[in-house]
Parts: sequence; structure tokens; C-alpha cells
Amino acid sequence: MADPTPRNIVIAGGGTAGWMTAAALARFCGRGWTITLVESEEIGTVGVGEATIPAIRLFNQALGIDEAEFLRETHGTWKLGIEFDGWGAPGQRYMHAFGLVGRGLGLLPFHHYWLRAHAAGRAAPLGDYVLNAVAARANRFAHVERAGDSALPPVPYAFHFDAGLYAAYLRRYAEARGTVRVEGRVEAVERDGESGDVSALVLANGTRVAGDLFVDCSGFRGLLIEGSLETGFEDWGHWLPCDRAFAVPCERADPLIPYTRATARSAGWQWRIPLQHRTGNGYVFSSAHISEDEAAATLLANLDGAPQGDPRLLKFRAGKRRKFWNRNVVAIGLASGFIEPLESTSIHLIQTGITRLLDFLPNGPVASADRDAYNRLSDFEIDRIRDFVVLHYFANGRNDPFWKAQCRMALPESLEFRLDMFHANGRIIREGDELFDVPGWIQVLVGQGIFPERWHPLADALSDDQLDQFLATISNSFQRDSARMPGHSDYLARFCATPSTFSQSSIA
Ligand SMILES: Cc1cc2nc3c(=O)[nH]c(=O)nc-3n(C[C@H](O)[C@H](O)[C@H](O)COP(=O)(O)OP(=O)(O)OC[C@H]3O[C@@H](n4cnc5c(N)ncnc54)[C@H](O)[C@@H]3O)c2cc1C
Repeated sequence: MADPTPRNIVIAGGGTAGWMTAAALARFCGRGWTITLVESEEIGTVGVGEATIPAIRLFNQALGIDEAEFLRETHGTWKLGIEFDGWGAPGQRYMHAFGLVGRGLGLLPFHHYWLRAHAAGRAAPLGDYVLNAVAARANRFAHVERAGDSALPPVPYAFHFDAGLYAAYLRRYAEARGTVRVEGRVEAVERDGESGDVSALVLANGTRVAGDLFVDCSGFRGLLIEGSLETGFEDWGHWLPCDRAFAVPCERADPLIPYTRATARSAGWQWRIPLQHRTGNGYVFSSAHISEDEAAATLLANLDGAPQGDPRLLKFRAGKRRKFWNRNVVAIGLASGFIEPLESTSIHLIQTGITRLLDFLPNGPVASADRDAYNRLSDFEIDRIRDFVVLHYFANGRNDPFWKAQCRMALPESLEFRLDMFHANGRIIREGDELFDVPGWIQVLVGQGIFPERWHPLADALSDDQLDQFLATISNSFQRDSARMPGHSDYLARFCATPSTFSQSSIA
């Protein structure tokens, strides 16, 4: 009897999603598995996606990737968080930094004490109590894991990198571990007459690539999941109104800051991602509120270096597939859905899609219970990330027509519930293993001007003096800790110097 286990996996698409998937499968599926990736150079990739969140390090570690080599190969930098410029109000800035906010005391998260002190006018800005934010503003970085009984919190970090170089790096990794790459344009998707499952991809030159399990990494077009299986798409345009972006790199500008910047503009926002060899920039905007010409001109007028080429237009729709896994096709990356890059979550969703695929790797025919569980977990994850990103739009303090319209939107029920709870008592809970935890929510809520009516009653247990002392101890120690860290550019140069991007003097 033939072995029914799907041991022949075909990946359609070789962008970041395709090569991350191939690299992970090549690393973890041992003997007996065949991994084939089909991509078309002629079609190319989306070519953006350069800011990440700290979990990317787990992915790299699982693959055994050396951090210095990785940063060298992808011209990457370290990232401590995202600065939001002009979101709460024009001219106002806050940081959503990775890591802890303050230090808990007794049973309570720190922010309840801070809310009490803030209401009495006795607190510094919340960012003064977040080590990553203090270090980011000072352009400093260090590898700090929590050491023994040290009071110093860890410094979680992510990367900025060149998306094209990252995919190329992972391609070398995957091919070295047996992934077979097939070049060619997929022209048809063959289905099994009986089961309805996908059986093969047919390329323009007639080549037939057969498989048992297919991973659709074909980008927005969703060649298999939508083009063939017609899975359906849940549109989130009413919550996330931006549907276009212009992207353009410019010359690197010093100092090389260890954070992404997201600057609110009249009909969207502009990203700034510092890399070793250039700065990535883009304007994410709503085509209903600004013309493409004006958006491109706005982007070009707000670069801090000479542009390297003309702005490139990308069109997209916020939302998700009705099923991430349909029949024997798992959609990963843009083929599965898209939330705009405000919180750098797309590559993370690729990563968790891959982890989940490995968890649910079929041992025999695909079980519908497995498929359902995969879809349920994926839905929960992406819906919660959507809520977090929607909050940034809803809670803005700007006056442009685009921004005023966002303040009036009807929120997703899950976000409404969370805001009600926060408004009443400053309470923030993390449900299941949703991505954003209390530190992320509190920084964005407060950063965008949302304050609760009250805080947790136990925060009143400290006297005013004790409260002042508690807050001062934390902010003073974070200032001291940050001052001891090396400058970001210098440390990066020492850590992974590439002769072409750093002068000898900066390495010395
Ligand atoms: C404006 C913008 C900014 C972004 N910024 C970030 C960010 O900062 N951080 C982040 O995490 N994410 C970001 N993203 C998302 C990120 O770019 C994607 O998640 C990531 O690049 C993965 O894309 P992909 O591999 O799914 O698709 P793609 O890069 O589009 O790759 C699709 C692949 O499928 C192949 N293909 C398609 N059709 C065929 C066919 N018929 N035959 C053969 N091959 C085919 C293509 O050749 C290509 O290889 C951003 C996205 C956009 C639009």
C-alpha cells in the first residue's frame, strides 16, 4: 500500500514567505520529505517588508543562523521599537518600544502606578520608564539578557533588513539543505477530479510540479488559495482604510537610529527604516483621500537623503482569507491576508504560519480537525493584531478629514470590549497567546491620548512620597543603564563590519 503521508511539499512563490517556509521545512523535515519551490523571476516579489518584531530572532535561532552573519548579509540594523510621530496630535511623539514598561510592584502591573502619578501631575512621560525607549532615543544598543539577580530588564530587539537580501540569504540556506527550486510561471493549477485537492502546478513551459501538500506563498494574488480554490476574502477596509503605498529607498542618513519611525501624514503615514547601506521609506495612504501624484510628492519631499530611484506604487487590500488552510493548500504570507505594516507584523505572521504548519504537519491524509484547528488559531491571531493596528487609527488626535473619519469608525467588537475595560479601570488583559501584551497596549493607548477614569485600587496603597520614589528609581536606573550601552552605529560596525558600508574610522 502506498504511504499516504504527504511527504512531497510544493511551495508556490519565492518571496519572503516562500523562502522562509522553504528554509524552515528544509531544516526540520528530514529524510523522506521533498521540498520544491516554484517561483518566477519575471513576476518578481513585492520587494518590501524590512521591519520586524523580536520573535524573528527565535526563527533565526531555530534555523541556527548566526546573528552577525545575518546582519552582514542583509545589511541589517537592530530595532528597539517604533516611534510614532504626530499620531496622538501633530508634533507629538511616543515610542512603542519592545520590552517591559517600568517594573511591577506586588500584584500590579506598573502602569497602574504610573496612571495614578500622571493624574496627579507627578509622572514623567511613560517612555521614561521603558528601558528600550530610553536607549532608542539615545541611539544606543546592547545585547542585554536578564542576568542572574540583576535589576536590569532584558532588552528585547528585532531587526531591520533588506527584504531582497533576506530572501536571497534564506534561498541559499534552503537550497543547501535540499530544497529544489523550479524557475517558471505557474499557468494552471491542477485539481484531483475526485477529492478536489490540488494535485499539481503546471508551468508555462509545460513542466508539471506534482505534490501532496501545497503552500501558497504567491503573494496578494493567492494563486492557489483564491485563484484555484476560491476560498473567499474578508475585507477590513472599513477598519484599515489605507490601500496603497509608495516605497522608495534613499541614501543612508546618520546617526543610524535603532528604531523604525512612523510619521502621520494627511492621508496615512510614512515609514522610515534605517539599514546599513540605505534608508527604506514609504508612504502608506488611502486613495480615497489623496491622489497618487500627491502621495508620491509628499514622500519625496520628506526624505532625509537623496532618493535612489522613483517611488514604486503598491496596491493592497486589508483583510484575510476566509480559510488559511483549505483542502491541501496552506496560504502563508500575503496570499493569506494583509494588515498594513504599521506594527511590522506581516513577517511575524509568516513565521507563526510556518510554526503552525510544522505543528500540524499531516501524518497521513490531511485531517479536517487539524485544518479547522489551524484556521481557528490563525483567525484568533490575525484578528487581535488587526485590533491593535486599528487602535492607532481610531485613537488619533489629528484634524485632517482622513483622520477625523477614523475617529468615527465602528470598532470591531473585540476592540470595543478592550477599550471599555481600559476606560473603566485601566485594566488590560492578554487573551490566550495573542501577540501584543500589556506593555504594547499601554504604550499605544497612552501615546495616543487614551486615559482611563480610574486605576487599580491597590495602586493607592503607596504614599505620594513612596510613589515618587518608586518612579524616580526606575527612570534614573534606566537612564544610567542606557548611558552604559554603546552607540548603535559603533556597536553594529564592530559586530558585523562590512567594508563597503562602514568607514575604518567608525570601526576603530
Ligand atoms: C507597503 C508594504 C510594506 C510592508 N512592510 C512590511 C514591514 O515593514 N514588515 C513586515 O513584516 N512586513 C511588511 N510588509 C509585508 C511583507 O512585504 C510581506 O509579508 C513579505 O514580503 C512576504 O510577501 P510574500 O512572500 O507573501 O509575497 P511576494 O513577495 O509577492 O512573493 C510572491 C512570490 O510568488 C511568485 N509568484 C506569483 N505568481 C506566480 C506565478 N504565476 N508563477 C510563479 N510564481 C509566482 C512571485 O514571483 C514571488 O516569488 C509590507 C507590505 C507592503 C505591501
